[in-house]
Amino acid sequence: MTSRAVLVTGASRGIGRAVARAFAAGGDRVVVHHRDSAELAEALRAELPGAGHVVLRADLADPDAVRTLVDEAAARLGGLDVLVNNAGVFGPPDPPHPVFEASYEQWRQRWRETVDTNLLGAANAAWCAAQHMRDRGGRIVNVSSRGAFRGEPGNPAYGASKAGLNAMAQSLAVALAPYGIAVATVAPGFVETDMTNEHLKSPRGDAVRAQSPFGRVARPEEIAAAVHWLASPDAQWASGTIVDLNGASYLRT
Ligand code: NAD
Repeated sequence: MTSRAVLVTGASRGIGRAVARAFAAGGDRVVVHHRDSAELAEALRAELPGAGHVVLRADLADPDAVRTLVDEAAARLGGLDVLVNNAGVFGPPDPPHPVFEASYEQWRQRWRETVDTNLLGAANAAWCAAQHMRDRGGRIVNVSSRGAFRGEPGNPAYGASKAGLNAMAQSLAVALAPYGIAVATVAPGFVETDMTNEHLKSPRGDAVRAQSPFGRVARPEEIAAAVHWLASPDAQWASGTIVDLNGASYLRT
């Protein structure tokens, strides 16, 4: 397979880092995107196999920054073949988000911050990427969440942002298919990353692991392998799909 140009958002750590490694190991050129982790991103770029990898910074909640990021990614890599919308926020425990703990202001603030990154950031990146893929085809893979289906009672903005991401991906899969652009989504359950580390190390960690009959949570590499396959030429027919990666912890019908 020829080397493809791949933009992975939120690639300095966690799932994004594993995704960047998977593409680089497959011979692709990767833009390691980050927001405020230049050192981590540069360290990852330096260790990636192959050549031509680039580090770019952008706040995905800023629409202008998203456009600059995607256009610069395409300029530096000579076009764009794959966008992985991985970056996302879950939000801190403080200020609280559950409906009877958050003030009205805190409630609105969390919705705005979460949707700005998880849904609008991904939607804007998809629009910008599609402009570069229009004449050459491509792949867009979104990292959603089990929470879109199971619900997030303590963090409804997160669940809703990921449900919106799923719906966006399904719409774009239909809209972009005539241009040879396939759009697919993964919906992980708990994954061992910085986003969940504290939770998994706390006394509640055992209950989280017990959610899966395998008695564990996912490794980032397991999510990355699915993302890598969904972005492959062989996976065009999976366009529109949402792949559950949750160790049978939640079975949707
Ligand atoms: P993480 O916190 O380690 O990584 C998320 C990355 O996104 C970080 O590098 C962060 O800087 C970046 N990011 C967040 N907001 C940004 C913004 N406004 N602009 C630019 N970058 C921004 O978390 P992770 O676990 O690796 O999560 C990756 C994706 O997987 C997220 O979309 C998350 O919602 C999803 N997910 C994670 C889990 C889990 O259990 N870890 C489960 C389901 C889904």
